[in-house]
Amino acid sequence: MPCGGHIGIMERVSDLAIVLKTFPYQERDRIVVFLTENHGKYTGMAKGAVHSRRYGGSLDLLACSKIHFVRKPHAEMVRIEEATSHHEFASLYRDFDRLTAASFAAEFCLRLLEAHMPSREMFVCVSNFLFQLDAGMPVSRAVNAFLCKAFKALGYPPSLLRCVRCGKPAHEVVTSGRVVWDSQAGGMTCGACHGEGRAGLELESELLLYFHKLTMTAFKDLNAELPPADGLAWADAKLYRVLSDFLHHHIPGLPAGGLKSMRLLKTEVASEKSC
Ligand SMILES: [Zn+2]
Repeated sequence: MPCGGHIGIMERVSDLAIVLKTFPYQERDRIVVFLTENHGKYTGMAKGAVHSRRYGGSLDLLACSKIHFVRKPHAEMVRIEEATSHHEFASLYRDFDRLTAASFAAEFCLRLLEAHMPSREMFVCVSNFLFQLDAGMPVSRAVNAFLCKAFKALGYPPSLLRCVRCGKPAHEVVTSGRVVWDSQAGGMTCGACHGEGRAGLELESELLLYFHKLTMTAFKDLNAELPPADGLAWADAKLYRVLSDFLHHHIPGLPAGGLKSMRLLKTEVASEKSC
């Protein structure tokens, strides 16, 4: 729970957080960017953290820690006073592909989340993604679920449940004709709106259903509610294509070159493709 004690104009905050970025500053200090459960994203300075054992691994990249910090109104940076490890994602660091996927989520948050804007849904999305990735969920399924849930948390979900042009619901469209991904509009179009003869990336009804499940089902229930990932490798590969296309064309705030970690991820998710 958030707690704040006012000391003059300073406010003490104590919150659970995921470390998104961390680097040494000058000789002894450390600068840490972290996403908190209840207060949004912050950049903090931990004085003397480089050589001190006081912090343990609590300020390492992707650590899930309880961070105590002091903030002043209108100040960009906060002062980290104390941090303790809350949960350790032990296997993330032993697997390059999992670490790449985890770094992608961190970069996503660094680039796209506004500082100091509380977003509990986004914190839950990131921490559950890391937890499932660490627990062995197939990387491509975890990444797709992360993107589906993150787009929803940001308030910009791709429109895959009704035609972006005429508004016809997906279940009506699939029974009467084809469904095509419309990169420009950021959603699906029915065959009639797309133009029957025109080429396009066709979306199967199973794929739309899969997208819906990944968006709406809690991370922890995904493996139990979905068939084994092997059987859905085609859907994961195709959905990733759609979601990354959507990310590049429709999410404001992305740098022109895209996310660095996404280039590594692309080869990773593509290599799992079995179709
Ligand atoms: Zn239509």
